[in-house]
Amino acid sequence: MAKIMVYDPDTNQIYTEWRAENDPMPYSYGRTLLVREFRGSSRSTVFWTTTTAMEAWNATRRTYGAAIPVGYAFKRIWEGGHGLQSQHYVGVSFDVGQRLSQSQRNQIWRTANNLGVWGYVEPLSMTPTWVHFDRRYARGACGGTSGFPTLREGSVGCYTLVLQDALNALGYSTRWLDGKFGNATRTALIQYQRDNGLGADGIAGCQTWRRIAAEVVGIGRTPTVIDP
Ligand SMILES: [Zn+2]
Repeated sequence: MAKIMVYDPDTNQIYTEWRAENDPMPYSYGRTLLVREFRGSSRSTVFWTTTTAMEAWNATRRTYGAAIPVGYAFKRIWEGGHGLQSQHYVGVSFDVGQRLSQSQRNQIWRTANNLGVWGYVEPLSMTPTWVHFDRRYARGACGGTSGFPTLREGSVGCYTLVLQDALNALGYSTRWLDGKFGNATRTALIQYQRDNGLGADGIAGCQTWRRIAAEVVGIGRTPTVIDP
């Protein structure tokens, strides 16, 4: 069984569900996206995503009208594999169509792009053998629409989960992996900032994210990782 946390930006709440590997992902349509497909190669027992990412998936799958094989979706930041500020760690990204033909990938790309439900659809020139789309919804702390947003006490959602996950993996306990930036997360972040010569303001901004990501991406499971 996997624990799946789903953030709803409309209500600013996180809903938790438990699912087996062959169950559909929460909020996904029919059996178009199973837990094991969303997992990909991740070995995690806990996942997270957003209602908006699932809605974007549903719209894409319905409009395309045929199976869309998912090669890769979720990965925890310490598992790495997709750069320093990947939306795959946030649980809102999909890499699909690896086993399909070029014309099928073109059709999926056009469908995803035309629907306008994704925050980003990667040009096929950048990923010729798969289609990447993601439902990012925040402005990056370092500017632009990529990367992770500035987080502070009170921030709720999948980006907060990534921050907590990273801090715990680096040995700075947030006590819970719950997606809610509370006092324990702030204390852990301030300690991390002090130890790394960053301004100890308890806010995850551009410099703090850069440092944390550079340190944690791909380091692998550590004894301080939390699996709730
Ligand atoms: Zn991707």
